Amino acid sequence: MRVPFSYLDRQFADVDAYLEDVRKVVVRGDFTLGPELQEFERRFASLHGLPHAVGVGTGTDAITMALEMLGVQKGDEVITTPNTFIATVGAIAMSGARPVFVDSEDGFVIDPNLIEAAITPRTRAIVPVHYTGNMADMPAIMPIAEKHGLTVVEDAAQAIGASIDGKGPGSWGAAAAFSLHPLKNLNVWSDGGMILSRSSELIDKLRLHRNHGLVNRDESVVFGRNCRFDNIQAVVGNRLIAETDVITSRRIENGARYDAAFAGLAPHLVVPRRRPGVKHVFHLYVVRVERRDELLKFLQDRGVEAKIHYPKPIHLMPAAAYLGYGEGDFPMAEAHGRTALTLPSHQHLTEEEVAYTIATVQEFFNGR
Ligand SMILES: *Cc1c(COP(=O)(O)O)cnc(C)c1O
Repeated sequence: MRVPFSYLDRQFADVDAYLEDVRKVVVRGDFTLGPELQEFERRFASLHGLPHAVGVGTGTDAITMALEMLGVQKGDEVITTPNTFIATVGAIAMSGARPVFVDSEDGFVIDPNLIEAAITPRTRAIVPVHYTGNMADMPAIMPIAEKHGLTVVEDAAQAIGASIDGKGPGSWGAAAAFSLHPLKNLNVWSDGGMILSRSSELIDKLRLHRNHGLVNRDESVVFGRNCRFDNIQAVVGNRLIAETDVITSRRIENGARYDAAFAGLAPHLVVPRRRPGVKHVFHLYVVRVERRDELLKFLQDRGVEAKIHYPKPIHLMPAAAYLGYGEGDFPMAEAHGRTALTLPSHQHLTEEEVAYTIATVQEFFNGR
């Protein structure tokens, strides 16, 4: 049996309804900032129980632009964790700020107990990452940010539909940044980003900046960029957004099946701690495994497309050399790099594929 990591061929096996909607936009010649995008922004905001959303070109731009519009600038420091996708840190660097790392905890998200030690007079913001679809510990992070006068931008690229005590991304920080990249839980056919905020002032600034600072066709009030969410992608988003609850609940069911099946395998395979009240949406289902590389090969040889997110923590990447960190600085992130293993958990897996994945993992441990 083959258990694929990507689901795009299954998701868009029946593409005609999408193409019919795209056709209407093409025939109308309405390619930028059209009514489809407005509708998608409205629905994206209401999905998260918030008043405003603004679509931008990518999830990476969503983070950079939110930081910039909240006043982060060159010379500032922005705290995040090295245990994330590279884009979080690249987005901070593109704002001109210096990324400052804090280690992650056992659930793969930033450890709030370590944040205060990293704060300096130059610290301006914190970017907690809801990594793997698990919410960062926002009830612990927000009081620290408030005490030190720091702004918070949530990296929610992997966390559409996630929440803590019913409160999702964007309900905690000044803004939350999302990605609609084809491999994110809610996806379009190309790149796309979304920013949620409770502040209409921030949203208005972002709307100006994504479109050359133009208030109308002929007048710019501030120099901005061209960073718009594509209207044709909004067509795709408007079809798929209705399925978000199904996408999310299937992923949660798959995660729960894996959790239950693997509970007895510790310490050889450890299911991360699940914090009460957290709705983890399993963008990635990640476990920690002592003999990770052996298990990875065992699974791949048997058709289960397991992956590693990610083998090298960001503080050890060549791009981060100028920050001056070294091996041993973030033991948890480094341990995750050596032990993390991701199993397919997407919404298009069949019952049999999940059962086969479980049986193959169990066979590895029983056989040795
Ligand atoms: C995907 C991702 C991003 C960047 O999103 P893009 O749309 O690919 O630019 C940022 N942060 C995290 C954690 C991501 O997974």
